[in-house]
Order: sequence, then structure tokens, then C-alpha cells
Amino acid sequence: MSMPAFRLERPRSVAGAVSILAAHGPDAMILAGGTDVVPNLQMKLFSPRVLVDIKSLAKVCRLSAIEWSPGNGLRIGALSTLTAVCESLLIQEKFPVLARAVATIAGPLQRNMGTLGGNLCLETRCHWYNQSEFWRKSLGGCLKLQVSDALAGKEGPVCHVAPGGRRCWAAWSGDAAPALLTLDAEIEIAGPAGLRRVALAQFYRNDGMDRIALGRDELLTAVRVPPRMAGRRGNYRKLRVRNSIDYPLAGVAVSMDVDPRGVCRDARLALTAVNPAPLLVKEVGEWLIGQTASPELIERVAQQAIRTAKPLTTSGSTPVYRRDMVRVFTRRALEEAWRETAGAPV
Ligand code: SF4
Repeated sequence: MSMPAFRLERPRSVAGAVSILAAHGPDAMILAGGTDVVPNLQMKLFSPRVLVDIKSLAKVCRLSAIEWSPGNGLRIGALSTLTAVCESLLIQEKFPVLARAVATIAGPLQRNMGTLGGNLCLETRCHWYNQSEFWRKSLGGCLKLQVSDALAGKEGPVCHVAPGGRRCWAAWSGDAAPALLTLDAEIEIAGPAGLRRVALAQFYRNDGMDRIALGRDELLTAVRVPPRMAGRRGNYRKLRVRNSIDYPLAGVAVSMDVDPRGVCRDARLALTAVNPAPLLVKEVGEWLIGQTASPELIERVAQQAIRTAKPLTTSGSTPVYRRDMVRVFTRRALEEAWRETAGAPV
């Protein structure tokens, strides 16, 4: 589990980081908190010639600032630690779904090191991929990681999850993204042409190998949540083997705007760890807006959430159980969000 050899670059500005990334292309990799990248390097999932350590930009480029204004909404610098996000009183009060989701990520040590930007750019995960080099070689690699010198099969690399297919189903396993999807978040990306903004929902490609729309010469610099999402009730439910450290096996995030009579004015629901991307369940708003809570309505939404979840085989659980937990968590998260609005009957 030693690290591969690499050169470490420490840029002093966002522009400097972008120009290093542009100069080295696929040979360069960004290092921020390191909680995902370092174990992946130790497992030899990547062998970049250059690691671009951007942690020192946290202070100089507002990359770790958490800012709020009624006109512009919330802006969180991408290098804000996960601890800073989930312990922010501002985020707890105005965007509880985000604080609650981030508080479930890994354990305190990883949250102290890991960054929000890193969590939004996690590698997808698979039982047959996130293993040591020795373990993977014994299997001959797979579509996502072709171990050319160890391939024994005449048919070439395969997907062990869905043999016969040419698609990678490695699961998106982040917790912050589904919460931010329910808040209609955007991200800021710096590249050679300057800054661009992208809706978070457009950032994920639902492809285990080509997971995010981020160029090799680009850097995620901030997350933005529009002011109209402030004050919504929200919740996050997560299935995992241990109640700390582990990645999700399934996760459901909900954010709702409910009036004092208990009538839903808006609702968004997103899933994680059951597809190669975090996904919004599209019909939720259409079904809930204008409605008061009822067990039949909530069950109908929960059934729709199951249809969006397509978990495949992994260690720690079965696809059938994970889909059923999506249904259970959807029901619980909706009931909780409705109940948190004073006077709303559930
Ligand atoms: Fe490899 Fe298939 Fe797993 Fe993707 S889903 S990492 S191709 S085994």
C-alpha cells in the first residue's frame, strides 16, 4: 500500500493551479483534503506524475469561506472542511438538509481533513474496484480499471457487476451531493477561460467511469445555493454497515417548503449510492405541491423513489434490501420534514 512516485506542486493562486493542470493534462491530479485521493493512490488506482496540492489556497483565495447574503444566497468555498460545513450555525439554521447530510460523512477525523469540493468530486465506488492492486490483478481488472499485464481472459476486460455489458455501474457514494441537489445548488468551476457556473444536477454524468463534467484543466472553486432555498425543512437518511466511517449503501435527501397549514409549497428529493450519480427523483414536486401529508401520498412518492434507484451487487448488502431501504427512508424523511413544520399534521 505504498504511494506511487509523483512530483508535488503547490500553486499560490487558482490561476496557478489551473495552469499546472493544463500543462500536465491526464498526468496531473488535484489533492485537497486527501481523504479519497490518498487511499486511492495507495491502492494504485491512479499513478499521476504530478499531484497539485491546493490546500494552501484555502486562505488566500476565499476557497474556505462560508458566506451568506439575502441577495446572493449561500456561497461555500470548495476547500471548506466538512466539519466547517456541518458545524456552521448558518447552514444548520437555513439549510438543515446540508448540515445533516455532511455530518454523516465518514468520521470526525475525515471530516476535519476532507473538503466539500472533494466530496462532490469523489471517485465512484465498486466492490471490484476499491481493492488493493494485488486483489484486482488476481481478477484481471475490469472495464473501469484495466490491468493489462494481468488479463488472462481472451474476451478482454469485463464488468463483474453486470457481465456482458459495456457500462460501468460503480456507485456514486457521496452524501453532500444529494443534499445540495435538493437545494438546487450550482457550482463554480475555474478553468483557462475563467470562471463558469454549472447546475449541480448537470455536473454528474451517471457513468461510473466518466462520472463528472470537470475538465482536466479545471478546478471546482465554490458551491452556491440560491437565497430562495433558505429556511426549507430538510432531512437526510443513510444506510451503511457501521454508523460511522462507512460510505452509504443508500441515501435519501429531502428538502421541503411547507406553509403553516401543512400544505407543501415545494419539495425536492434526491438519492445517493444507488446509481453511478446522485439523482433527483423528478416527479416528487409535481405530486407533493399543493398537498397535505397523508400516508397514501407519502407511500406513492416512496414507490417512485424505488423506481429511480438501480443498485447493483456490492459488499455489505443486497440490491433488494437497498432498494427497499430507499422506500423506507423516503417515507421517514418526508414524514420528518413535514412534522418539523409547526402545526403540520402527518
Ligand atoms: Fe469495474 Fe463493473 Fe465495478 Fe465498474 S461496475 S468498477 S466496470 S466491476
